[in-house]
Amino acid sequence: MKPAPFRYVAPRSVDETLALLAEHGAEGKILAGGQSLVPLLNMRLARPQVIVDINGIRSLAYIRRKDDHLHVGALTRQRAVEESATVRRQVPLLWEAIRFVGHPQIRTRGTVGGSLAHADPSAELPAVAAALDAELVVRSPSGERALSPGEFFAGYLTTALEPTDLLTEIRFPLLPERTGTAFVEVARRHGDFALVGVAAVVRRSDGTIAEARLAFTGVGPGPVRARGAEGRLAGSAGTSRVFADAAREAAARLDPESEIHATAQYRRDVAATLARRALELAWQRSGGRTR
Ligand SMILES: Cc1cc2nc3c(=O)[nH]c(=O)nc-3n(C[C@H](O)[C@H](O)[C@H](O)COP(=O)(O)OP(=O)(O)OC[C@H]3O[C@@H](n4cnc5c(N)ncnc54)[C@H](O)[C@@H]3O)c2cc1C
Repeated sequence: MKPAPFRYVAPRSVDETLALLAEHGAEGKILAGGQSLVPLLNMRLARPQVIVDINGIRSLAYIRRKDDHLHVGALTRQRAVEESATVRRQVPLLWEAIRFVGHPQIRTRGTVGGSLAHADPSAELPAVAAALDAELVVRSPSGERALSPGEFFAGYLTTALEPTDLLTEIRFPLLPERTGTAFVEVARRHGDFALVGVAAVVRRSDGTIAEARLAFTGVGPGPVRARGAEGRLAGSAGTSRVFADAAREAAARLDPESEIHATAQYRRDVAATLARRALELAWQRSGGRTR
């Protein structure tokens, strides 16, 4: 199918984009990498009157360390993140997860901001943002605001973004020493959206878990943090038993849906296994030995 007719505009700056979004309101739609929007247009599941193509705004594409965060511009291609030695060194969880996003062709066009703004319930990057407590920076005609993942992700394919908002930057906090991270997932084929994915962060203090974070994708309307299991892990010894118990507890509290690709019970079972693997891997990467 072909898209319904629309007007195409290509602003050259953030200010021009904000003016266009304010002018067109809910009739306007931002085009970034187009990897999610264009299929929706072609299937006529989205019928915006005006497409606001932000690909010409070079100032929105960057990877830059500032103070204790890595700042990633919303228009940064997923492939640029994957190829960045800075990301690999400074935010290894993002680097590890992004290679699960589709295929190289998709990542060459797809953007970090587009993936987060689209908020697919099985996407990898929302879980990474949730696990790292990233800040999502949004510009609107009334100014700039930084949202936590809990504030930003609002449900199935839904975020706190208003039609007049532009996601401009994502700030990933740099993790302290003796912290390990891991991203693991199960998909039907390599490059498919995750049936279940898990992002884990573990900070170690000698043989003890000082702090742990777990975020799932594919098991709810958006990324799901396992706060109960995180609380149990903090202060515990880094043993296989502790990680397995926490992973089981986290998975038991999930409420995924059954659909043609997987039943809810299958997703919970896979989530328990993946959470244990991710926690153990993150622990090992923090320098801990699993007993
Ligand atoms: C075959 C295929 C396989 C894929 N597999 C995966 C996968 O395994 N995992 C995964 O996570 N994704 C996958 N994707 C989706 C891909 O990651 C997309 O790149 C991503 O979802 C959207 O990014 P985009 O830059 O292409 O955004 P677009 O498609 O251009 O836009 C998506 C939505 O976000 C909005 N938007 C974009 N940028 C902004 C912004 N800066 N501010 C406000 N709103 C904005 C748009 O208006 C639109 O509503 C796949 C896509 C395809 C085609």
